[in-house]
Amino acid sequence: MNDLLVMKFGGTSVGSAGRMQAVGRITLEQKKNRPVLIVVSAMSKITDLLLDSMRRAEAGDRTGLEANLRLLRERHVQACEELLPPSYRASVLRTIHSLIGEFERITNGMLILNERPPRSVDEAVAIGERLSALLVANHLEAEGARAIAVNAAEIVVTDAVFGNASPLLEPTREKARKHLLPRLRTGVIPVVTGFNGAAADGRPTTLGRGGSDFSASILAAALDASELWIWTDVDGIMTADPRLVPDAAVLSEVTYAEAAELAYNGAKVLHPRTLAPLTAKRIPIWSKNSFDPSNPGTKIVPHAHASSGGRAVTSLARVTLISIEPASALLSGTHLMAKALDALARVDVEVLVLSSSSYQQNFCFLVRSEEQAKAIENLETALALELAHGYMKPLEVDENVGLLAVVGEGMRGTPGLAGRIFTAISRENVNIIAIAQGSSELTIAIVVRRDGLEKAVRAVHEECKMARAAGA
Ligand code: ADP
Ligand code: ASP
Ligand code: MG
Repeated sequence: MNDLLVMKFGGTSVGSAGRMQAVGRITLEQKKNRPVLIVVSAMSKITDLLLDSMRRAEAGDRTGLEANLRLLRERHVQACEELLPPSYRASVLRTIHSLIGEFERITNGMLILNERPPRSVDEAVAIGERLSALLVANHLEAEGARAIAVNAAEIVVTDAVFGNASPLLEPTREKARKHLLPRLRTGVIPVVTGFNGAAADGRPTTLGRGGSDFSASILAAALDASELWIWTDVDGIMTADPRLVPDAAVLSEVTYAEAAELAYNGAKVLHPRTLAPLTAKRIPIWSKNSFDPSNPGTKIVPHAHASSGGRAVTSLARVTLISIEPASALLSGTHLMAKALDALARVDVEVLVLSSSSYQQNFCFLVRSEEQAKAIENLETALALELAHGYMKPLEVDENVGLLAVVGEGMRGTPGLAGRIFTAISRENVNIIAIAQGSSELTIAIVVRRDGLEKAVRAVHEECKMARAAGA
């Protein structure tokens, strides 16, 4: 559908009745000109509340679980009462109670069994998005539009990796076209849940935290949309996280490659997998502020006029550095590295940074903190013989680190930039532990001591004059 606009609204953008009204205004404004499909996250903090409830259920904390359920009901009942006219309320309230009842049944099972099976977690956590889609769709109807809440489990087909599923694009495309196109053609606004999907056999899945951006890009690609607009709570993609760098500025345009690197290296404003489905089709994406819709935001495009130097700096605080060193000349570092990477690949641990030295043959790599235990367990199993025979030293694990990444297409042509960045970090007395630069030269990744991470981010932002280059 070549004039279709897909818009995604994040948690804060649907965080209250007032915010849902803003969603309604933005949607109806765009609907005047073209077909619109929207994707919604759960109301802000609801996903955390649902996950916490399930942890409490597993731990047998009935009182904590009940308190959470009360909060869940209050938040949605209040939004319903503030948002919808009386004629809509009774039926929507019934559906709210029935969805929360569904959640309660799943958590009661967890309470009894002291277990939290991943597939039940995925089924239960998606109820946050189903509640917000219900409210937004009814609000649009009450405003005179035709809208329908759609559970993405009916549309987005994924593999069965619960908690971090990947979409199967062909079957998703088929379902999206079959179920959504006829509605769009007759002027209906589908309000689709972000974050969730289902495996081919129907078991519910989710796409990982923050995955609603990814849901929207999957649907935009499946329906050949003309544009994707991602509505959030800041003015667009900025030169740094504004929570860390107060003078961070909005970038009016970034390339797909820059956006992907920024997202991958910690810029929460976009889920790391958002770009992939759209690049081949060259569907443009905008990142916009639902609190200030007249602001143009950031346009993400295939190519842009590259300005020189680093354009943005991002960071990841929850990472772990694992170092491996041969203890005997009998064992080559390459052999060890191959075995280690193979062990990590087999359990899907993502290596964020890899750095090695040539003479001592030692190497280190960075993984996310959530994956640390899995990484170490599998490395120790795969390298058990080498460890037992003393061919290598015990794994060295450093949790006291953070990752900083400087991103910009124009870094390729800027001699001396890396040196300036390292000097700026050192001036703050922050130790640099490892450095990696991909062959694309789009990103320089630097591992520093955790307690110096924020200081280093601000120093690099200042040194590269990122705010000024962005036009602030
Ligand atoms: P949503 O709920 O709309 O998906 P998120 O909280 O996931 O919103 O993402 C938006 C947040 O991302 C912003 O509030 C901001 O603090 C953070 N952020 C981190 N890095 C950046 C960046 N480079 N540009 C803009 N925002 C960023
Ligand atoms: N609600 C989900 C989360 O908080 C998905 C999203 O907001 O993108 O992770
Ligand atoms: Mg998000």
